[in-house]
Amino acid sequence: MAGEFPLILGSMIIIIVVMMIVILLGGPKFRLVSQVLSFGFHRLGIFRKLPGGWHAPIPRTSGITCTLNCQACELAWLGCPVGMLQQYVINFRLPFYVFGVVLGFGTALGRAICGWLCPFGLILDTCNKVCTHKYRPPDWLRLWKYIYLVGVVILAVLTASIFWCRYLCFGALLGVVPYWLTWQTVSAFWLIYHLALFAFYFTFSYFTHGRAWCRYFCPLGAVFSLLNPFSSIKRRYDFKWCTQCERCKKVCPMGLDPTEDDLKSKLDCVKCGRCARECKSNALSVSTVFGYTITGKKET
Ligand code: SF4
Ligand code: SF4
Ligand code: SF4
Repeated sequence: MAGEFPLILGSMIIIIVVMMIVILLGGPKFRLVSQVLSFGFHRLGIFRKLPGGWHAPIPRTSGITCTLNCQACELAWLGCPVGMLQQYVINFRLPFYVFGVVLGFGTALGRAICGWLCPFGLILDTCNKVCTHKYRPPDWLRLWKYIYLVGVVILAVLTASIFWCRYLCFGALLGVVPYWLTWQTVSAFWLIYHLALFAFYFTFSYFTHGRAWCRYFCPLGAVFSLLNPFSSIKRRYDFKWCTQCERCKKVCPMGLDPTEDDLKSKLDCVKCGRCARECKSNALSVSTVFGYTITGKKET
């Protein structure tokens, strides 16, 4: 692991710098491109499974990514921080590597990782297109993701297994289905269990929002939310230009009021820039700590 440290650190710095440049120069219109590229990057293992003769030798690595990325999936080649944390705990190893990756990315980018990089975030944004948004859960439910975060570790210790991945993760279906389709070594029980779990979370999302998982349940989102106030990507609001039209509030995937700087916004804003795009008065922007707006304009 010590020999891999320069490679890991170098990769982290490159990804963070590229993300800052994309956000600085590209703006929200590049968010979907960033999400799709990140999805493809995390699923490069698909080249191991191509039909026909040629298969790229893409190994599963011991590397850890900064996003939720089910590593049961045959197409994955990097580990998920939540899954790896449990592996370290059950093997009685201190998870310095997991902490390093999560703290490094989290302090640099905060929940912009959720808005711009997480492959599961892309899937949830896509699911959102069919959601009704009729039910708005109480804000205290946002605390549930912190309960899950603590529960991930406690359950791993008590059961000496990756309990949370096996029984509670929304994203596990994305690992189970490709495995079932390719190797067919997944039992009918696991397939049905994870279909039922997915149906449960999805039904909740259907009535609330596609990103309900990110708002209320994701333990990785919980870690990034705690680092979000210190990250280098900021959402800014200038009341001088605001006409109180509330258009920004209607489009926020995290159920926030973008004109407020309350604790909920500080923790849960994924810096997606949807509010800034929706605001016709230029009262909102997503910018870096260097003071430039997401569209490259200098802050006044
Ligand atoms: S909250 Fe979790 S699932 Fe949602 S985008 Fe962030 S890391 Fe991904
Ligand atoms: S969309 Fe812009 S102008 Fe309208 S309430 Fe939001 S910040 Fe104010
Ligand atoms: S407040 Fe704006 S930038 Fe933050 S999550 Fe909501 S829409 Fe995205």
